[in-house]
Amino acid sequence: MVPAIGIIGVTAMAIQSVGVIGAGQMGNGIAHVFALAGYDVVIQDVNPQAVEKALSLIDRNLERQVSRDKISAQDKAAALTRISSATDPAQVGRCDLVIEAATENEAVKIKIFEALLPHLKPATILASNTSSISITRLAGRTDRPERFIGVHFMNPVPVMQLVELIRGIATDDATYDALVEVVARLGKTVATAEDFPAFIVNRILVPMINEAVYALHEGVGDIRSIDESMKLGANHPMGPLELADFIGLDTCLSIMNVLHEGLGDTKYRPCPLLAKYVAAGWLGRKSGRGFYDYGGDTPVPTR
Ligand code: NAD
Repeated sequence: MVPAIGIIGVTAMAIQSVGVIGAGQMGNGIAHVFALAGYDVVIQDVNPQAVEKALSLIDRNLERQVSRDKISAQDKAAALTRISSATDPAQVGRCDLVIEAATENEAVKIKIFEALLPHLKPATILASNTSSISITRLAGRTDRPERFIGVHFMNPVPVMQLVELIRGIATDDATYDALVEVVARLGKTVATAEDFPAFIVNRILVPMINEAVYALHEGVGDIRSIDESMKLGANHPMGPLELADFIGLDTCLSIMNVLHEGLGDTKYRPCPLLAKYVAAGWLGRKSGRGFYDYGGDTPVPTR
């Protein structure tokens, strides 16, 4: 049972179980914060090892919160009992809210929704954590565009305060209001974005990262000097190339492609060097190598 906090609207009150599809960097964080807030969570991934990895990461990250006195050992134990894993979409379909957090690829997401739809309850709200893909277009491939919404968490989810809510053209007020209340229950803050390519945060952030890759590509600076420049010169907590590795270079490239195609402006052209790193399978932290090599104790620049 989700504890009542403040005035809860009918739809938000009805949300007690949350399905998370995709157990990668974002899926594990999303499952973590929902379980901690009292929701029952079911997490599913096409790759069973990803689910196992996510569950052990959630355990470790909750433990870190306990050691920093952010939560109690009882909170951690209770959160862990609320999380279960699933191997097929039918088990996720029983939830009141389903959040898709799989690979940033429109075809992959559409296939997930096709497999999921026959198992959903009529009232279930469907959400996507996409960083850039049109919510209106994704919603149009489901049977419930009015109960479909973009819920864009930031990485790492347990730490970052913001959640962007993106309304598709058909998203109804009840769905939007329900998610505003859900985000409040997670202790996070909503920013509402219109459904334009990459929404607000990534419309601004990822072209900056792409520009940093161009600066590297053109030899304006090496990896260390580009990252130091933005940390010490612009007071950014992470350098843009370090941040790209953290987000995942495949995700950054995919967002640039969506901006380029969606807005038709050459200023969003993805840097060829970014595409080359992705083609090499150098995806950043998650693959052990990106602009930095993560094989040793400290990350080492690759150029
Ligand atoms: P990731 O590569 O870490 O994880 C993606 C997961 O999706 C993988 O475990 C993969 O096995 C799984 N998957 C692929 N196809 C699937 C299917 N058919 N069914 C179930 N699972 C499937 O990626 P991520 O960084 O967690 O990104 C996930 C989503 O979140 C993307 O849409 C991305 O744009 C978005 N997002 C990412 C960030 C970030 O900083 N990385 C931030 C906000 C939003």
